[in-house]
Amino acid sequence: MSDLNTMRHAIRRPNLKDYSREALRAIFKERGWAAYRADQVATWLYKNDVEDVDGMTNVPAEIRSAIAAEFDTRSLEVVETQKSVDGTQKLLLGAFDGARIEAVLIPEERRNTLCVSTQVGCPLTCSFCATGALGFTRNLTTGEIVDQVLQAMRVMEPETTLTNLVFMGMGEPLLNLPAVSEAIRILTDQKAFALAPRRVTVSTSGVLPQIAPLLEVAPIHLAVSLHATTDEVRDVLVPLNKKFPIAELLETLRAEPRINRRRPVFFEYTLMEGVNDSVEDARRLPGLLSGIPCKLNVIPMNPHPDAPYRAPSRETINRFTAALHDGGMRVTLRRDRGRDIDAACGQLANRRPGPVQKTTNESSSAV
Ligand code: SF4
Repeated sequence: MSDLNTMRHAIRRPNLKDYSREALRAIFKERGWAAYRADQVATWLYKNDVEDVDGMTNVPAEIRSAIAAEFDTRSLEVVETQKSVDGTQKLLLGAFDGARIEAVLIPEERRNTLCVSTQVGCPLTCSFCATGALGFTRNLTTGEIVDQVLQAMRVMEPETTLTNLVFMGMGEPLLNLPAVSEAIRILTDQKAFALAPRRVTVSTSGVLPQIAPLLEVAPIHLAVSLHATTDEVRDVLVPLNKKFPIAELLETLRAEPRINRRRPVFFEYTLMEGVNDSVEDARRLPGLLSGIPCKLNVIPMNPHPDAPYRAPSRETINRFTAALHDGGMRVTLRRDRGRDIDAACGQLANRRPGPVQKTTNESSSAV
């Protein structure tokens, strides 16, 4: 690769997908272009999936060439796709600087959910998580978050639509709140992806100061990675707990007016053998979570080489969930999806085992 090419790939120009429509309208106005031209561009980008500015034919040619001279329109390329035996697809995506991230598409009978990443790696080092073991490289841009959605839509079966979006991939979304907030505005914009906010879920390990600002963006759902019932255990599993311990986390959620019966919190509880799977843990949960409208998702640990934990036996899982039901809790035991391709919860680490379906973009790792 020539030095020129290397430089072109290392320098990132502003990207049209970094801006919500409102922000784009302001940019267009500054340049003396009618604000509705920004709406037209957004429609081309997100409704029609046209990235070539020349193809945006209802926009005047001089505006198109000015846009093309200043802005990029694509930020990620698909490097590889892998398909699980259960239909789950994992996309390995390459950014302009060679960074690699993953997005996971989970088809179900009545819905299609996409799990997107928000950071390259993650700084929070949760001890059960493969992404945490990677360390942290950088935050993703809004355009890179939005591009995960567009790239996933391109590999979906014809006649199917994306119904749900979860920010549960690589990274802690609330440590990248500005980019995540702008992405939510684009995803829920009627002239862009038009996803209903209630179909969007953002997961956090508990970055408490950012919870209220996130919930102000749109009436989305919040998921909280709880994983333990005592600070002693949670300090090990989720080191952020040392800064924001369980009682403070739950008090913040209890006091948050935008969490209610129509918008409950989804607590995530990864069940690990001998760590957090006792009947005593299950009995503590209803008391801990009382006063917080919520649902509890219990997820048996998805094993991977970077963590010393295993899923409990079926009997232990049943005992745990039965004790929760006895305590009056609403519980979902989450099915494993994409475990064979390391696409399950906590497994995203740019590892590539098993059969790989190469895409047509296989040689293009950067744009
Ligand atoms: S569980 Fe989430 S917050 Fe914790 S290390 Fe993994 S990606 Fe980061």
